[in-house]
Amino acid sequence: MKITDIKFGMLRVPLKTPFKTALRTVDRVEDIVIMVHTDSGHIGYGEAPATAVITGDTHGSIVDAIRHYISPRLIGEDIANLNRLTLLIQNAMEKNSSAKAAVEIAIYDLFGQLYGAPLYKLLGGGDPVITTDITISVDYIDKMVADSIAAVDRGFESLKIKVGKDIGVDIERVKAIYAAVEDRALLRLDANQGWTAKQAVYALQTLEDAGVRLELVEQPVKAHDLEGMRYVTERVHTPIMADESVFGPMEVVELIRMRAADIINIKLMKTGGISNAIRIADIAAMHGIECMIGCMLETSISVAAAVHVAVAKADIITKVDLDGPSLCLFNPVEGGVIFNESEITITDAPGLGIREIRGLELIE
Ligand code: MG
Repeated sequence: MKITDIKFGMLRVPLKTPFKTALRTVDRVEDIVIMVHTDSGHIGYGEAPATAVITGDTHGSIVDAIRHYISPRLIGEDIANLNRLTLLIQNAMEKNSSAKAAVEIAIYDLFGQLYGAPLYKLLGGGDPVITTDITISVDYIDKMVADSIAAVDRGFESLKIKVGKDIGVDIERVKAIYAAVEDRALLRLDANQGWTAKQAVYALQTLEDAGVRLELVEQPVKAHDLEGMRYVTERVHTPIMADESVFGPMEVVELIRMRAADIINIKLMKTGGISNAIRIADIAAMHGIECMIGCMLETSISVAAAVHVAVAKADIITKVDLDGPSLCLFNPVEGGVIFNESEITITDAPGLGIREIRGLELIE
């Protein structure tokens, strides 16, 4: 099975409600989809969103990186040589982690198709059912409480609450949501870099003193501020998770060396795909550090890949934040991973099992 061509498409899907964080507001998913064609007629699918404020990737940069830097290295290569292919992708250029992720996802999809097995089995197997949380966007307190109750009523047992705006209001937001759902759902906070280290310690100590129990707090301080992250981690009981601060394995090693956080959030769009996500899970496992697997605003192509990784590495990836598909108004993909609100199930279809993508606009 040799690679013959890589083609591009744009996939647009409206969100059920606008996605609001301390960094941005978005009302639809708009992702680049890639199709890796082979001489056997098999097609591998990959996907990447433009998340300029986090990874620096834009639609234009993703297409350009793949078309002019990654694709020329892959044409003619054999899918059976998976490790060689991931090295060619990762070493094609610096950064551009989302472009690399899209291509790796498609290559792993084809690797599964080559051997007729769902990807998670080739990554080591596991129980093909996982449970995700759902994001509650930052908003007025009453709206966030109503959204939280609605999510719990839909069956979600973990809520990821976006905060990081005004520290005083953030504390009130969390108290109100906790009071509304405390017996029915675990709360995870995501400050998306919105606090200073001292603000984070103040907010978390205030919440701890008020009896609010949080499962974790994600990225309280700026991405580059590992010292600040360590300052917070040392001073609060609530587990602290690094997201924007860690992209690839090198940053994870540094974070662990500094003891800057308790948990690591793995996202394929930060790691540059599946090979480094696995590397991070293995490094974290060696040090007894748990991981979450998360996603950007992605549909069930690239999120399916993350689900396969989560299942295969479930011993160390103990927390799942793969709510992209359930934030979308409809699922444009017919495929091997079934997203049913909080429950995600993988079928026996080979690779990622993608059969059809509805509404894909081809990019020439
Ligand atoms: Mg986050």
